[in-house]
Order: sequence, then structure tokens, then C-alpha cells
Amino acid sequence: MKDLKDLVRPNIWEMQPYSSARDEFHGSASVFLDANENPYNTPYNRYPDPMQLLLKDRISELKGVGVDSIFLGNGSDEPIDLIIRAFCEPAIDSIVSIAPSYGMYEVAANINNVEFRKVELTKSFELDAERVLEAANAWVKVIYLCSPNNPTGNSLEREKLYKILNTFSGIVVIDEAYIDFSSEPSFLSELERFPNLIVLQTLSKAWGAAGIRLGMAFASPKIIAILNKIKYPYNVNMLTQEQALEILNNEERMKEQLRSILSERIRLQAALPLLNCVNKIYPTDANFILADVENANATYKALVKKGVIVRNRNNVTLCRGCLRITVGTPKENDALLAVLKKL
Ligand code: PMP
Repeated sequence: MKDLKDLVRPNIWEMQPYSSARDEFHGSASVFLDANENPYNTPYNRYPDPMQLLLKDRISELKGVGVDSIFLGNGSDEPIDLIIRAFCEPAIDSIVSIAPSYGMYEVAANINNVEFRKVELTKSFELDAERVLEAANAWVKVIYLCSPNNPTGNSLEREKLYKILNTFSGIVVIDEAYIDFSSEPSFLSELERFPNLIVLQTLSKAWGAAGIRLGMAFASPKIIAILNKIKYPYNVNMLTQEQALEILNNEERMKEQLRSILSERIRLQAALPLLNCVNKIYPTDANFILADVENANATYKALVKKGVIVRNRNNVTLCRGCLRITVGTPKENDALLAVLKKL
């Protein structure tokens, strides 16, 4: 990996971050007249902990990663954007990602006026590591990879991810939003081996908390310090911090839901290919199944008409004819199958 100083944008490296009242005072006190808050309406009158330390303690315990290797954001969409803003000079630098994949990498690049270079997966949705590395020229600061990948569902081949981590001298982001549904191990255990690695995870999927918006980025303390420097001071609100802690303290509830989702995934994997309108389904390591169906647009519309909404991926690279179906409750999956059976 290049020196971090040579990867980070010079203005970001040099700047002083905003210092909030709650950054400056630590300890206990009974009279808070430091942050221009309203003294009434407790507890919502107070600004939340800007560094979310209670929550990070719990995440550190759950994930086996030090507190200073954890960044928390408003969904993982926040670190996806912040990483580009930290490392890529607008109109000069670029990022590389794969196609098809999660759409926000490209949107975040476009918002920041950073070139988005995409490398198609193979027909079986495998990563072509050589082509990713060829695309990663001197102006490419970050490579975004998603594993298990959205919308294809498969985990990218581990050896190819190692090849990219070992060869590329910039930052490699592995987005593990769907890792809890996968039998593959997380790359969190590789953080110490690869100083250029950032792993993204979220409470939006297996933890069942998309509504509270909490995303996690894990990386070396030096990279995390850069993200902390440029985030909004109070980027994770008090309600989210409290609710996230509650959710993370109930790991058993998450595991029970996970078991149900995984067993329903097996049921759908058996049932879908037997239907006339389904040509094939792709292997999945996530909480959704990519299905190649007869006339995707018409099938999508027929489902909508019956109040069943899936994601139409017919116009996405390599996904012509495909619908992406999230695994729901047994009842929801029955409703899906009942409509498809009649087509
Ligand atoms: N990464 C991937 C691969 C996703 O599919 C999604 C959401 N669909 C996200 C990140 C964003 O998750 P969050 O809700 O944490 O912003």
C-alpha cells in the first residue's frame, strides 16, 4: 500500500476538523451550558455522543475489532460517500468497481465528480481480478467490491479478492452488507494483514434495522481517523444510537430471524425452478435470489398487480430477464409463489 498521506486528498490531510462542545469536554458534570442547547425537553435537548462510544464498545465486542478501527455512519451509504471524498480529487481521480453491483458506488462517484470505471463480472458473475487490476491505473484511489454481491447474490471468489488486496496499492473496500447470510467468513479478520482494506457492514439487513440507519466501516485506526475527521459532527442521532444498542444486545433474536430467512431461502430455491415462468435461479449467499424469468417486465407487472413487489433487474448489465426477489416471511413467500404459479 502507498503511504496513507499520498492517498488522502492533500486538503483533507491538512485540514483541522470541527471541534464540537461534546468533543472538548469529557467527564461528569451537572450543569451543561456549553452547547447552546435548550435546558428543557430532556433527553432530546442534548446533542448525541459524536463518537458513539457506547455503541462502538458493543460492536467491538461482537466483531472482535478495536474501537478505534470502527466508524459508524448514517447507513453504509455514508462511508461509501465519505471514502470517495477522503481519497479522490474531483475531476482528477477515479474509482473502480464491478458490474453489476450496488448502484450507490457509481452515484457517490458522480456526485463527487469522480470517474467511475466499471469492470463486468463474467457470465457466471465471477470477479475477473486481472481486469479489475488493469482498470486500476495511477488515478484510481479506491476499488469497491461487494461480496456477497448485490444483485447477483454470490460471494466473490476469495482468492481473487486476496489477489486484488495484495496487488493494488490504493484502498480496497469490501462491502459485506449481506455477510451474515453467507457461509463464507468475513474479511474483518484480515484487517491487520491488509492496511489498505476497508470492510463495510450494516444493521439494515440481518439485524433487521434498515429504518434506523446505522452503517459500519472497519479499517486501520489511521483510515478510521480520516473518516472521523470529515464526517458531520453528530452523524448518528441519539435515537439511532440507543435503538442500535438495544438491537445489538439481542443477538439471539437476530439469529432466530436469520435461521428463518435461511430456511425460507432453501424453500424458495427448491420451489422457484419448478415454476413454468422461471427459467433458472442463480446461486445465492444473500437474503435474496436472482431469478431469470419468462418476460421479466410482464412478470414484474403481474406481481405488482397482486401487491407483491420484487426488484426488476431486466435493464441491469448481465441481468437481462432477471428479477431480484428478497426472502420474506413464510406467508410473504407463499404469496409470491401463488402469483408466479399462475403465470
Ligand atoms: N451495500 C449494499 C451491497 C447494499 O445492497 C445496500 C442496501 N441495499 C447498502 C450497502 C446500503 O445499506 P445501508 O442501509 O446500510 O445504507
